[in-house]
Amino acid sequence: MRKLAITLTAAVLAVTASAGTAHGATTPVPFPSSPKGMKAPGPVGHALDPVPAYAPQNACQPGTPTGVAKLRSHVLKTYGVGGAGNTARTCAEGSSEHADGRAWDWMVNVKNSKEKAAAANFLGWLTRDNGRAARRLGVMYVIYNKKIWASYRAKDGWRASSGHTDHIHVSFSWNGARGNTSWWRGAVQPTDYGPCQRFAGQPSAVDTKAVNLKPCPAPSPLIKTTNLPTLEYGQRHSAVSTAQGLLGRSRTGTFDSGLRAKLISWQRANNLPKTGGLDQPTWAILRTSSVKTNVAKQYTATSARAYGLKNYSKLSLKSLDTGRSVLVLQRALGLSLKLSTGYFGAQTTAAVKAKQSSLGRPATGVWTGADWKALSRS
Ligand SMILES: [Zn+2]
Repeated sequence: MRKLAITLTAAVLAVTASAGTAHGATTPVPFPSSPKGMKAPGPVGHALDPVPAYAPQNACQPGTPTGVAKLRSHVLKTYGVGGAGNTARTCAEGSSEHADGRAWDWMVNVKNSKEKAAAANFLGWLTRDNGRAARRLGVMYVIYNKKIWASYRAKDGWRASSGHTDHIHVSFSWNGARGNTSWWRGAVQPTDYGPCQRFAGQPSAVDTKAVNLKPCPAPSPLIKTTNLPTLEYGQRHSAVSTAQGLLGRSRTGTFDSGLRAKLISWQRANNLPKTGGLDQPTWAILRTSSVKTNVAKQYTATSARAYGLKNYSKLSLKSLDTGRSVLVLQRALGLSLKLSTGYFGAQTTAAVKAKQSSLGRPATGVWTGADWKALSRS
């Protein structure tokens, strides 16, 4: 039995190897030997952009960012065939870079010879020389005709995937999506890490400035949990109606763009990461009766002062920080249980500045060990 398995494996390997040697046999469509490709809008310099790391969808940020829109129009203009297809979608279809606005579907059908030839030219050009053009464009991966090719796995070539016979799916890094690559800018740009997840298992904040040059800190455990589900733009749920009622909107049960916009401004006003979603920190304030666990209850203002002085004197707590240290600070500053979210937002910054002023300390908005000491003496 074992011997048979080995023989069979050897036979499969032999077939795979011979197929691999025939150029184009492992590609989704036969590529031209010298694909024409696209002409860069300007000089692209000598240095090559770093290989885009796989950055999974982490925000619900519908819209078409500059880089995606520019590549779409550049490709359509160069090849003159195929439909413009999808870019942004709702966030209800499971994990997809489309929900971040970081994907584009170029509608080129394998059954249409003109479209297939254009797809072959584009993909041959994009992926050759270990994906040189893909790196210049910030393309993470492409899927076409049941095959996938990824910049970060360029050595593996085209691998088996599924579907995508009527379009090429193109996924972008944050640099690629925002057009910050050597192809568009003429020089290599620093790596953009995109929006950061603030609480584990929750959507990322979309309020951070457009380009994020720092790797995201590890998300903090949730400070509060509720008995309501985390919901995002595009989803239908009875709890969406609940939120719509609480926010003074008509109760349709469908999470539409109006609710998303309303939530972002409501989150801004309530010291929460601006995710545009009905996440756990949002529910905890929007519907306090749904709260299951609330770590903030463990601390009074007095116990929080002692705990903070003892445990967090070596930290600098500042805007956008999350976690228990922030929560303890909020309690120590006298913020209500409701507003003690474990997230250092605008209200916490204001409270920190006010407290620093009243303690005769510089009102920096960044809370340090010296501030804990001054607070405990007050
Ligand atoms: Zn797609």
